[in-house]
Amino acid sequence: MISTKYVDENTIGVVAIMGVTYTGMYEPVEQISEALDRIEERTGLDVRIHVDGASGGMIAPFIQPDLAWDFRVKRVYSISTSGHKYGLVYPGLGWVVWRETADLPESLIFKVSYLGGEMPTFALNFSRPGAQVLLQYYMFLRLGFDGYRRVQQTSHDVAKYLSGEIEQMDDFTLWNDGSDIPVFAWMLNDKPDRKWNLYDLQDRLRMKGWLVPAYPMPVDLTQVTVQRIVVRNGFSHDMAEAFIKDLKSCVKYLDGLRSPMPSEARASGFHH
Ligand SMILES: *Cc1c(COP(=O)(O)O)cnc(C)c1O
Repeated sequence: MISTKYVDENTIGVVAIMGVTYTGMYEPVEQISEALDRIEERTGLDVRIHVDGASGGMIAPFIQPDLAWDFRVKRVYSISTSGHKYGLVYPGLGWVVWRETADLPESLIFKVSYLGGEMPTFALNFSRPGAQVLLQYYMFLRLGFDGYRRVQQTSHDVAKYLSGEIEQMDDFTLWNDGSDIPVFAWMLNDKPDRKWNLYDLQDRLRMKGWLVPAYPMPVDLTQVTVQRIVVRNGFSHDMAEAFIKDLKSCVKYLDGLRSPMPSEARASGFHH
């Protein structure tokens, strides 16, 4: 059940996330839209949706084509995505699209008089490198729709394999299994005498070269700690098997401890 208590006459829009940072799960855009329909019936407020498709915007069209999360949902007026995530290019590129030209407020567009011509621009003005756009364009041409579909499907298959293996381990419970974007998280089961936690496991994995962050969930769930894997192009099935082997050996090592790991000097989480 979607709560509607946060929407009132001051709401300028609702953002639905396709691929929540913490878990990789899709938010239910269609159900959010239906909840907004009910609010409109009751109050007359017509609230639009922006979809933050930073990751999912480059996954769903290729491997979940039947999922309606985009302009098929009529309350969705704008969608943003990041080229540097599942667009498969280096950092620094993302874009936003509006349903129709009229939906981008005129006041956001700068009209610059430049060397005798008028240049409308909705971007950072003036000299910027174009390399990022160029690589994205190249990747679209190089891989095409089917190439992207195959790359994303492979990441998806690897994520499902990994989550399946982790699900079978006694210490863990999956939060989700990577069937939305190829990202998933898991929690530690209760076990009275365990001498370690997910932060200790994170540190052990790091010694073997794997960066698998453990972190608390957001507000209202901060008591839950999860650990997350993000699968992208290049994380092959072979690497996934090697990871599972390392994960099992780290758990075995930690299970062999006779007293808890010291926690005072632990580096706090993950650093960009
Ligand atoms: C990564 C991410 C962002 C930020 O996008 P950038 O292109 O890295 O600035 C915003 N929202 C979500 C859900 C993300 O995963």
